[in-house]
Amino acid sequence: MVKLEGIGVSPGIAMGEMYLLKNAISSIPSYSIEKSQLSGEIDRFKKALIKTENEIREIQGKVKGEFRKEARIFDVHLLILKDKRMIREVIQRLREKRVNIESAFAFVAQKFITAFAQIDAEYLRERKVDIEDVSKRVLHNLLEVQRESLSQLKEKVVVIAHSLSPSETASMSRDKVIAFATNVGGKTSHTAIMARALEIPAVVGLKDVTSRVQSEDLIIIDGSKGFVIINPDEETLESYKRQQEDLLVAKRELLILKNLPCQTKDGRRIKLRSNIELPQEIAHIPFYGAEGIGLYRTEFFYLNRQDLPGEEEQYSSYKTAAEKVNPYPVIIRTLDIGGDKFASSLQAPSELNPFLGWRAIRFCLARPDIFKTQLRAILRASPFGNLKIMYPMISGIEELRKANFILKEAKAELKIEEKDFNNDLEVGAMIETPSAAMTADILAKETDFFSIGTNDLIQYSIAIDRINEKIAYLYEPAHPAILRLIKNIIKAAHKEKIWVEMCGEMAADPSFALLLLGLGIDALSMSPFAIPEMKKIIRGVTFQEAKEFAKNALSFETTKEVTDYARTFYKERKLLNE
Ligand code: PEP
Ligand code: MG
Repeated sequence: MVKLEGIGVSPGIAMGEMYLLKNAISSIPSYSIEKSQLSGEIDRFKKALIKTENEIREIQGKVKGEFRKEARIFDVHLLILKDKRMIREVIQRLREKRVNIESAFAFVAQKFITAFAQIDAEYLRERKVDIEDVSKRVLHNLLEVQRESLSQLKEKVVVIAHSLSPSETASMSRDKVIAFATNVGGKTSHTAIMARALEIPAVVGLKDVTSRVQSEDLIIIDGSKGFVIINPDEETLESYKRQQEDLLVAKRELLILKNLPCQTKDGRRIKLRSNIELPQEIAHIPFYGAEGIGLYRTEFFYLNRQDLPGEEEQYSSYKTAAEKVNPYPVIIRTLDIGGDKFASSLQAPSELNPFLGWRAIRFCLARPDIFKTQLRAILRASPFGNLKIMYPMISGIEELRKANFILKEAKAELKIEEKDFNNDLEVGAMIETPSAAMTADILAKETDFFSIGTNDLIQYSIAIDRINEKIAYLYEPAHPAILRLIKNIIKAAHKEKIWVEMCGEMAADPSFALLLLGLGIDALSMSPFAIPEMKKIIRGVTFQEAKEFAKNALSFETTKEVTDYARTFYKERKLLNE
């Protein structure tokens, strides 16, 4: 028996015989060509592009019926396929280097893939998978290689592969592929999104799973914990079979919860909302019972492009989101560029301490032209649904006032232009700096709500760079300092009768649900699929119990005491699915 640990990206347990998916292209031929062959090579390229387009449209058509929303990924694939810059570069390389088209194409595609892989923002870095997927298809068509098709499988199998593209994942039949595991990949890739949409348990990032398996091996995939077990012993197999049954029961229970309100046994109501990084993720919201979008990150508009997004482009995207999610709210966070996210079009100077630098609202206040364009777009989209605005990285009242002043100017301009907007749309401040947390009482007087961004609040309070793995052990939401800050923020907000949500990752961790509930949080915003479990915990306790829990948690001196207390409490009350 061998047990491997990777990243569980799609929950559930499955067991079955393994099927090793081989990459059909082992190497790409590279050879010189004569000038006279150039037009023939360009012709082959055009044909391969057309064939690839047809293939993508065909898969899109197939997935549409069942997973219409997920099929939008293929619109992205079509955009990549038709990307003028990429096509131009391929033809330029073909002409300059006089090499065969496969070799020219593979070189340019790799350049784009590498550029994406180096982006710091995880969700954009993962989009490299889409470019890989499309370029693999083009190469197959250039080389006229038949891809191994997962739709042709005869038996139920666990697929093991180096990597799986979103389209390969989408073409899996749930009756045949009962789970999959790959060497590479991350949580936010489209492949992972697809796996979750298809409800196929999946573990990625295993590094070398393809070389650890042999034909006829029996494999267990634990997509919740991220384990892959090769040839389990009898005891392990039995234990996993029992867990599988328990999970089925738990899942049925969770689905019943979908349409039930998120409230404690004694009636305290909490809103559970979704975090969104890309507009296409809106599709996942209703499935898990989210009550709107609690954090709509807008950086995707600005990254990976040479120009700035205009008002119309943003307006139409915000309008669609507002309409789709209505009557639930969409809380749009204004641009949070800087830190680990850079936009090429903004040409910001490199800084020694970017997380302490020209970031978020600081950048927006220095570039009111860019800021106002976004505010105007949000305002104009506001009559189409329930939009709210929140400013990131507010460090004190002056910044909040300055931002609100620009918002006022934007409103005045729209009035003169006779453009509609909701004058009463709520405007909130993210509380993610210690200075904002300490002055929450002052900020609460001039804002409609708070949203606690714990990813940054923890980083700045414990002085620990959130992306530096060497000090990751210090990144502790349960640190007594963080608990005290959260308590103060909520208390200050409620004193001024404004509501508080939390949208950092801490909000998605079930082990903090009771604490946050007990401290009086009004809304939690997280990845959509984390919502059902959170709802189950909240519905399983009383507000009174949660308040007791929070009081006790805040009485401890160390992080460990807090986490031990939480673990024991959850275990005794059977609040977590172990
Ligand atoms: C946060 O800091 O908690 C947050 C939600 O914002 P981001 O992760 O985008 O910085
Ligand atoms: Mg933040």
